[in-house]
Order: sequence, then C-alpha cells, then structure tokens
Amino acid sequence: MFLNHHTAGRGDLAVVAKNGVSGLPAPLAHVYLARSGVATMCSAHRANHAGRMALNAYASFRDEDDSHPAPDKDTGTVDGNDVSYGIETENRGDGKDVYPRAQYDAWVRIDAAVCRHHGWSADSVGCHKETSIEGKVDPRGPVEGYGGRGRFDFSPAQFRRDVAERLTRSASWSPGSPQSEEDEMTPAQEALLKQIAEDVAWLRKNAAKAPWTYRNEAQDAASQTATGERIPDMHGRIEDVQRGIAALPQAIAALVKKGS
Ligand SMILES: [Zn+2]
Repeated sequence: MFLNHHTAGRGDLAVVAKNGVSGLPAPLAHVYLARSGVATMCSAHRANHAGRMALNAYASFRDEDDSHPAPDKDTGTVDGNDVSYGIETENRGDGKDVYPRAQYDAWVRIDAAVCRHHGWSADSVGCHKETSIEGKVDPRGPVEGYGGRGRFDFSPAQFRRDVAERLTRSASWSPGSPQSEEDEMTPAQEALLKQIAEDVAWLRKNAAKAPWTYRNEAQDAASQTATGERIPDMHGRIEDVQRGIAALPQAIAALVKKGS
C-alpha cells in the first residue's frame, strides 16, 4: 500500500531525507513533496514513516476493499514500514495551512504512478490517520484546488477518488485540461471527427433544399438543366455520416485503451 502524511512543518526535506528525528533514523519517507509540487525521492528501501498499523485497517488496503475501517489495535498490529511506501507532504498540519494546487496535483500524480506501476487500485492508497494506532491526524488541512474544483478540505476518500480518476486516464492527463485530452487522439481519430463535423455541417446547410432520397432523378435533371448543377446528395451524405458514427465506438475504445 501507499501511505500519505503531512510533515507538520516547513522546509523539512533534510529531516526526512537524511537527519531523521530523535529515536527515528532517516529516511522518514520514500518521497518528500515540497509545497512547490517538487518531489524528492529519499529512499528506495525501507523508510521510517508508518509506525505500527492496526491490522484491520492495513488489511483493507492490502485487499483493496472499497471501505476502510477505523484502525482498531485489538485486531492486531503490523509494522507499517514493512508493508508500505510513504510520502511526506510539506504542510504545517495545523488544519489551516493550505496545500497549494500544484502540490496537491503532484501528490495525486505520485500516488497514481505507484498504483499504476504495481497494478493497484486507488484502494491501495491510505492516510496515516487511517492506519495509525497512536492517534495520528495526518494528513489534514485545506487544499487550494484541483482541476475544476475550488478550495476544499483534504479527505482520504476524496483523495482516493482523485487517484482513481487518474488511473482511468493516461499518465499525461491533467484534470480540467481539455487540451491534453485532444493530444491523446491519433491523427486518424482526429480526421474521423473532422469528417463527421463537416458532414453534419453540410447536412444542416442542405437539408431544406434537397429530397432525402438518393437521387430524385427528375429534380436532379431539372436542376442540371436550370443551373448546370446537380442537386445535393442528401442520402449519400447521410450514409457518410452513418459510416462515421459506426466507426466512432472503435475510435473511442482505442482512446480509452490508450488512456488506461
Ligand atoms: Zn504521518
């Protein structure tokens, strides 16, 4: 599982990465995430971040249950540092210090990246306050915003939803960024959508002035005599649109597959 923390301080990279604290040697996490959104990898092996976890809580993350019970040490305990990655996110942890937008965005990305690597769901993502038998409260506090969402209070459930959303997309996706979704289309898919848009525009323009059967021979002949032009081929154009629409599910399926 992946365990999330706040540092309860400022500028504490050195503490987490190399100094540690009294009675607890560094590294104190695998990743340190600064308020700027810049992450520093501090350990590739064991790190002292989790303490003991209540077994019932740990099992719910290990088994990726869709709900996570409050930690109950009467169910037993495990050494959390044996069974989890940890990230320390720079924040005073007083419930008032705001996580900047860039920091929260990077935070969701990092958790999602680890889940993606291991083939885990967002239910492998937990927070220290959800596993601790020592009454830890981290992480907590207001978040500046995320994607199209304005200020909100950090919550483990919302964080998991945000990680889960990322896991349905490609790693390059950004929340509330239509530009990056366009970037995921192949040239063939873009050409298909462009063709459908052109066909629909043509239909709107000509729907009022042509019969909807393939070709009304008498009207076509009269038009050629009078204007030298054939009547618009409504039926043929509708068949073009139908072909385009028939190809859409496959194009969408390819997009979804690409983003997974
Ligand atoms: Zn913690």
